[in-house]
Amino acid sequence: AGEYHIEFNGVCHSGCVMAYHGRVLTEKTLNLSYQHSKFGGVVPEIAGRGHLAAFKELLTNILQSPVFSPKQLQAIAVTRSPGLIGSLLVGVTYAKTLAWVYEKPLIAVDHIEGHLFSGFIGQPAPRFPFSALVISGGHTLLVNVEGVNQYTVFGRTTDDSVGEAFDKTAKILGFVYPGGPVIDRLAVLACERGIPPVKFPVPLRGRDTFDFSFSGLKTAVLYHAKDAGLYHPERELITVEDFLAQSDTDILNRTLSVARGFQETIAVIFEERITQTIRASRVKEFHICGGVAANSAVRKLTAQLAERLGVNFRCPEMKYCGDNAAMIGYIARLYMQKGFMLTETPDILNAEPSAAGRFSI
Ligand code: ATP
Ligand code: FE
Repeated sequence: AGEYHIEFNGVCHSGCVMAYHGRVLTEKTLNLSYQHSKFGGVVPEIAGRGHLAAFKELLTNILQSPVFSPKQLQAIAVTRSPGLIGSLLVGVTYAKTLAWVYEKPLIAVDHIEGHLFSGFIGQPAPRFPFSALVISGGHTLLVNVEGVNQYTVFGRTTDDSVGEAFDKTAKILGFVYPGGPVIDRLAVLACERGIPPVKFPVPLRGRDTFDFSFSGLKTAVLYHAKDAGLYHPERELITVEDFLAQSDTDILNRTLSVARGFQETIAVIFEERITQTIRASRVKEFHICGGVAANSAVRKLTAQLAERLGVNFRCPEMKYCGDNAAMIGYIARLYMQKGFMLTETPDILNAEPSAAGRFSI
């Protein structure tokens, strides 16, 4: 029997549908982030409406797929929390309707729990325990994973998430949303061209804590950008391509220097926390997941730490770092295998916005 999973989620700006059969049978993700680009961040109302329009296309695509067969359908899985209520409601409403039409159980999962297991998609079954760093648009968490549904959060951001810090830094420098890939590209260019990084203070450095803080770093970037003549909030946000085509060498070099400085500071923060975690817990396996796990400096760092600390590091495939339905299908399937399905009848399942997420404070 196969499973058919649907995700339509929250802060996330992409929607997708897929079929899962122990492996991904078919999947489709619509990245809707371009709808928010000129605003420098996600606009909730646009996100909800965007999902509503996109979902019809996604669903049609999957229902017409040759691998889709209602008889083989075992369950419908959906993200219930956390996220923006409008976007969650679209997914939950579609999922409830499909569960009702096909008379299948509905499995409601937590989006962050999906990210936590995204490194296992298409890989051998998880072995526990492992520790994980969840680095996404709305979260920055250190979690011990003892098993399915057995999580201990031992570190978290005290202010912005790291994804937000990337997005805000890009916006300060005049770039469109999402800012992570922009900063990454500029930082790589800076390295290639030998442009030195701006030295930013490393937040919470040397402190006896597993927590994170990014708002001070963001403020440091803002002050530096103002002093360097790079901050022009009245200007329309632009793409990297336009920036590279338009800017003079001086502005270009100063911007590359900030991006590299910011990205390297993030890598130093993660290096410190991951090393601390591994020394304290003696865990043999460490995972990185969430949209920021796509970052080139973060991926390079994990490879170096694996060698230095003798620990197995796992990063999701690039396409499973950001939001995707495969991870929702994956965690739902783990629940089914365990026999505790978190199944709810369609009439009582409701979307739960941020505060109800199991990884929220
Ligand atoms: P959450 O999962 O916490 O609810 P979300 O679903 O919006 O939030 P993700 O889709 O997991 O978050 O990740 C999106 C974030 O990842 C954005 O902040 C984006 O800028 C960031 N990101 C994407 N690619 C990169 C990259 N190469 N480097 C750094 N950040 C990146
Ligand atoms: Fe996400």
